Amino acid sequence: MYGWRGTILRVDLTNETITKQPLDESVARDFIGGRGFNSRTLFEEVRPGIDPLGPENVLCLAPGPLTGTPLSLTSRLEVSTLSPYSGILGDGNVGGSFATFLKRAGYDQIVITGKASSPKYLWIDDGKVELRDASDLWGKTTWETTDILQERHGENISVACIGQAGENLVRFASTIVDKHSSAARGSGAVWGSKNLKAIAVRGTGKVELAHPEAFKQLAREDREFFLKDRLQHEVIAVYGTHIGVMSWWPGYRYFQKYLSGDEIPESLRPEAWKNYEIRRARCDDCPVGCKDVYRIPSGERAGEVGSGLEYECIFCLGINCGVQDPIAIMEMENLADQYGMCVIPLGNAIAFAKELHHRGVITREDTGGLSLEWEDADSQIELIHQIALREGFGNVIAEGMYSMAKIIGGGAMEVCYHVKGLSRGPHPPGLFALAHATGTRGADHLRGRSWAYGENDPEVFPELVRKGFVPDVEEDPVGALAVSERATTLTDAIGRCKGAVNSWVCAVPLVWKCPLFGGLARLLRAATGFDFGAATLEEAADRIYTLERAFNVRQGITRVDDRLPQKPEVKGTPKGEEELRKHAEMLAEYYRVHGYDPETGIPTRERLERLGLRRVADELEAHGPYPAWDGPPLWPLDAYPHGGTRA
Ligand code: SF4
Repeated sequence: MYGWRGTILRVDLTNETITKQPLDESVARDFIGGRGFNSRTLFEEVRPGIDPLGPENVLCLAPGPLTGTPLSLTSRLEVSTLSPYSGILGDGNVGGSFATFLKRAGYDQIVITGKASSPKYLWIDDGKVELRDASDLWGKTTWETTDILQERHGENISVACIGQAGENLVRFASTIVDKHSSAARGSGAVWGSKNLKAIAVRGTGKVELAHPEAFKQLAREDREFFLKDRLQHEVIAVYGTHIGVMSWWPGYRYFQKYLSGDEIPESLRPEAWKNYEIRRARCDDCPVGCKDVYRIPSGERAGEVGSGLEYECIFCLGINCGVQDPIAIMEMENLADQYGMCVIPLGNAIAFAKELHHRGVITREDTGGLSLEWEDADSQIELIHQIALREGFGNVIAEGMYSMAKIIGGGAMEVCYHVKGLSRGPHPPGLFALAHATGTRGADHLRGRSWAYGENDPEVFPELVRKGFVPDVEEDPVGALAVSERATTLTDAIGRCKGAVNSWVCAVPLVWKCPLFGGLARLLRAATGFDFGAATLEEAADRIYTLERAFNVRQGITRVDDRLPQKPEVKGTPKGEEELRKHAEMLAEYYRVHGYDPETGIPTRERLERLGLRRVADELEAHGPYPAWDGPPLWPLDAYPHGGTRA
């Protein structure tokens, strides 16, 4: 095959068998790769209602058909599973160089099933693949694990692994790639539940292209565009996503209010972070380079170097928890990377605990004496250790906000601001409300964004609207959201970075001079030789998104879950009622556009059949309705593994 390598690697941990399965051409055409492959596999192989931390769960890792080609920003890996954090589809898209190595080694997807009887790691050396003993790695941080594997197998490899948080089944534990890139939504706990510590890969092969010269020409044009795009090289390449603090209205002290750029503390502004930066960093040959590398100047971790601190960390572990000390925030980011946890659910769960403390729902007795004062950074750092190691009150927070609220009770659920169990990022609800409510992995700022693109791409976006490729976001927000869902789905499927600001120029290559998705179709035709067109790509995106919705329907998701949280102070007030009315109106339009039943929110048979998903329609009809979603199954708190070395 061209573009794809034509092989799926299947690893059965229970039986310790590894098989190479040919990639079906029709699957490649219909689901493209990356997120498309993973979502399809999960629908086919994960039965509804299973325990996400049981051996029946399936873990998938996939690059895209354009990964490993001369097109820049294509070193993205999609990591997908049934999330132990939310109980619905959970996937994360991550940078680093793992995806490129995996593709060069010859694989389009890894599918991991079962549970190993003792800790294992997978070593992929081009065509040679073996499971190895990982007893010496268990209990180690992601940084230590990566160093050991690089010492053992050579520098020129990439490592995806978990830290102690994944081993201890912390429900928002991440898969960490190359020490600093985090694939979220609890995949790390699934690695831990399977006794899988790491995958190390070396890939030296070549991705063959159907029309190499045509492809290289398109890739050159694309790269030139990035190099001259002012937003990318004057802002993102200089400040990374830190720039978001000035315009994205971060939540303050568990969303008590949202801060304007003027209200952001001096210590956390983009220029202030330059005091700690020692250089910029990038994934592979990315022409943007949105990542910083910083050194902690003082305190307990003085001299420690970290990378990839993003605005989510500044907000979720900083401002939204009441912490304004950048040194403490860098320490917390490094701890999250080393233990292997996503900073968004980690920070939001801590902020939630602080809110519960201030509302009198929990006391110092509940926390074992640990302070939950807003500005107390030292206690917050101690709490992060406890969460990763499931010690003390950390064992409760390790369950994630939704399950925490159930365990704590006493009105905690009233202030648990979640969508389908997921706490949202720092992004203001006004910009993302409908996207948060309907995203196929819970509250989400990256699945689709109804209002944000215009703001991010002041030059490109108005041109797209003027040409009629994208609906005007003011006039038709639902239509705009549907288009951006397609863009992000395709981007995750082809293996491309959605970019530092998730902008259109990153999402849809060559879009500025083609019909929407026409540029991407040209690239895919040149890479694969398949006759992709803009319309077939739109259909593929809709197929993937609708299948993800169907997966969640089997997990009990219906219309009632496409809601937005409301603060108790707003509930029942005229303002609150007006918000609900507007949301219901937009949701009805969203369902109409997406072909979902207006009463249940379930994709209709007509819609599924039009997308070639008749078997899915049959299954939903034969086995539905499913038990209503209520988060992942709870375990007794003393049933979890816990402990390990402190990072
Ligand atoms: S924009 Fe940032 S995350 Fe995306 S490929 Fe470039 S360096 Fe990596």
